[in-house]
Amino acid sequence: MIAAVTAADVQAAAGRLGLAGRPVGLHSSLSSFGRVSGGADAVVDGLLADGGTVLVPAQSPQFAAPPPAGHVPIPYNGEDDGMIPATSPASGYDPAGNAVDRSMGAISRAVLARPGRARGANALSSFAAVGPLAGALVGGQSGEDVFAPLRELAARDGVVLLAGVGLDAMTLLHAAEEAVGLTPVVRWARVAGVDGVVTTRHGGCSRGFERLAPALAQLERTGAVGASRWRAYPAAQALAAAADVFRRDPLAGVCDGPGCARCAARRAQH
Ligand SMILES: [Zn+2]
Repeated sequence: MIAAVTAADVQAAAGRLGLAGRPVGLHSSLSSFGRVSGGADAVVDGLLADGGTVLVPAQSPQFAAPPPAGHVPIPYNGEDDGMIPATSPASGYDPAGNAVDRSMGAISRAVLARPGRARGANALSSFAAVGPLAGALVGGQSGEDVFAPLRELAARDGVVLLAGVGLDAMTLLHAAEEAVGLTPVVRWARVAGVDGVVTTRHGGCSRGFERLAPALAQLERTGAVGASRWRAYPAAQALAAAADVFRRDPLAGVCDGPGCARCAARRAQH
């Protein structure tokens, strides 16, 4: 029987990849680890142990709302992607709350549940963070500026860590798209304490992002913890390398899904 992964194992693996003391943008699958003693919290503890900060996606599409009355569809905005509901949700997004989509995974939920965690002010695509740089990383996020936490991660010598997930989970690649003028889609959401709906930017489709692997290969460092395969990328360099790819080919990240409204919109635009 394989021994359960511990927080110390995670700490040691992070050290081997040069992550100690640095902010880590983590995309993860807890189940990829196999058995973890202490569960999701042990993974977070291991990454925090040497003074690091953990930044995770905390999307909450349940707060999506229809556009305001009289809305005229925005060109190339992929509004037929199924994300826009017919009716407004009963409650609004509150960064102090922990409502999050299940697909974000157990580790994102564990970060949200931590005392002292910070969460950004984008109702649909917030990031949450815990650790010494938590507030600094997510403080600039807003409805219009969805990727501010990732630019901050890059500016602070941070690393993107994929733990048991692929490049299709790497939101930094959407920030690279935005950096070369491929703007995130516009959606609408309800926000606690605000009347009406709030314009909220959201990343496009990421299902084709594994195609950027060759462009990022020179930056990639790999490791393993238990059964979880890790890929780590220095955020600033990965952002620049991916931006170069999208500058040359705006369609470099589109997926092959025949029914993908967001990628269809991008193809129509370029
Ligand atoms: Zn797509």
